[in-house]
Amino acid sequence: MSLENRVALVTGAGRGIGHAIAKNLAEEGAHVLCVSRSENSCGATAEAINQSGGSATSHAVDVSDGPAVAELAKSLLEKHGKVDILVNNAGITRDGLILRMSEENWRDVIETNLSSCFHWVKNLAHPMARQRWGRIVNITSVSGLVGNAGQANYASSKAGMIGLTKTLAKELASRQITVNAVAPGFIETDMTSGLDEKTRDIILKNIPLKRLGQPSDIAHMVDYLCSDKAAYITGQIFTVDGGMVM
Ligand code: NDP
Repeated sequence: MSLENRVALVTGAGRGIGHAIAKNLAEEGAHVLCVSRSENSCGATAEAINQSGGSATSHAVDVSDGPAVAELAKSLLEKHGKVDILVNNAGITRDGLILRMSEENWRDVIETNLSSCFHWVKNLAHPMARQRWGRIVNITSVSGLVGNAGQANYASSKAGMIGLTKTLAKELASRQITVNAVAPGFIETDMTSGLDEKTRDIILKNIPLKRLGQPSDIAHMVDYLCSDKAAYITGQIFTVDGGMVM
């Protein structure tokens, strides 16, 4: 197991992609701190990991709440002494065309998807830098690469994560912290379960591999980026989308 003795924090670990990432990192031997909004969901992920022989704990917090994130990060660092791996995966959508988008929906998405990354990195990068080893993986989206009608807030937050990824990679490289992003296409989770049949067919027509992705397709890439095999990779955005965006 490549991540034995590592402590990994995964946000949005309660469901979908975050659940798969947490499970995989635990299978690689990391102790996983499962974070999500509700204790029910991150608690269920931690329990599933512990029941299958891994090691995990659950921590409910609203990742857009800077002071709450700072308090949780402090208590986790006191308990574990370090967090080696940070996966910023928690995210929401509040779709709508720009002419009808409320300021509240703009702000909620930017705060949850982008400002949350700032809060976690502010609180966890310093101890990573001290130990001269760290992995930060941000889950962005193809929407952040190419834009998507109806998602001005979401695409902006995800494009912001790309800028953040590249900047942090430059700032933290001298401390042996790598910072990369994964840009999923359409992945089968609660986030995409509301798609109607017609939209689904249109999406499938644009995916050369002719299927929606599974959360495990993303988790495998995250596994790799967190491993020692990826020590020479930083500042990169890896698209995992069945070939949709080339
Ligand atoms: P889901 O909606 O299935 O799960 C989202 C997770 O994020 C949940 O665990 C949820 O917590 C958590 N979360 C949301 N808001 C907050 C918050 N304010 N504070 C703490 N936790 C929060 O999403 P997916 O698994 O589909 O998506 C995961 C990531 O991947 C997102 O960043 C998304 O933008 C990105 N992505 C997804 C794609 C897809 O097709 N599914 C495509 C491209 C990118 P709780 O369980 O407690 O509600």
